[in-house]
Amino acid sequence: MRLRNIPGAREVIGASEYVIPEESGCAGKWKEIFGNDQPIHMEIGTGKGRFLMELAGLHPEINYVGIEKYSSVLLRAIQKMEEEPLSNVRFIRMEAEHILRYFEKEEVERIYLNFSDPWPKERHAKRRLVSREFLDRYRILLEKGGDLEFKTDNRDLFDFGVEQTAVAHWEITAITYDLHQDEKMNEGNIMTEYEERFSAKGNPICKYIISPQYKNVKQN
Ligand code: SAM
Repeated sequence: MRLRNIPGAREVIGASEYVIPEESGCAGKWKEIFGNDQPIHMEIGTGKGRFLMELAGLHPEINYVGIEKYSSVLLRAIQKMEEEPLSNVRFIRMEAEHILRYFEKEEVERIYLNFSDPWPKERHAKRRLVSREFLDRYRILLEKGGDLEFKTDNRDLFDFGVEQTAVAHWEITAITYDLHQDEKMNEGNIMTEYEERFSAKGNPICKYIISPQYKNVKQN
C-alpha cells in the first residue's frame, strides 16, 4: 500500500476515545474498556476499518478491535467512527508483532486477516501475518475453540499460509480457492476494500478458517 504521511494524523489518533493508547497496558482490561464481557474479535491490518465497522454494526453482541500500523490509514477509520460511532469497536495503532503486549492469554475469540501484506522476499517470510511466528502468537491469545479467518487474492501468500498451518499445528476447518463462487463459505461474506478492488479485476479470492490444535503440542 502506498502511503502518504498525513500531518496531524498521530495527534488525532492520540486524542480519539476510540483508540487504545499504545502504552495503556490494556491486556486483561478489555472487559473494563468495553464495559461488558462480550467476546472479542479482532482484525489485524484493518486498514481504513470498513470491514470491521460493518461487522460491528451487524453484531452488537461482539466487541471488535482493529489493529493497524499506520496512523495515516487508521485516521480514516477514526473519522468514520466519529461520524457513525459504534460502542463495540476500538482500534490500536501498533505493529502486530507486539500483539501479546495488548491481550492476555485466551482473551480473543476470533482473528481476521484480510489481504495481508505479502512480503514476497523469502528473507521477510517471518513478517507475513500468516507465518508460523505469528500463528504461535495467535495461539496464545485465542481462547480454546477460537479461530482465525484469512482472505487474500495472493495465491503465493495463501499457499504459504496453508503450509504454515501444518508447521504450526493448526487445523484447517474450511478452505476455498474461489470464495465468491463458493455458496457455503461466501454466505454472509463482508467484502473488504481490497477484496472489492481485486475481485473487480477478476482475481479469485482464497479463504481459510483455521483453529489451533492442542493435543501433543508443546505450549510456551
Ligand atoms: N484489511 C484491509 C482490506 O482488506 O481492505 C486492508 C488491507 S491492506 C493490503 C493491509 C493493511 O494491513 C495495511 O493497512 C497495512 O498498513 C496493515 N498492516 C500490514 N502489516 C501490519 C502489521 N504487521 N501490523 C499492523 N498492521 C499491518
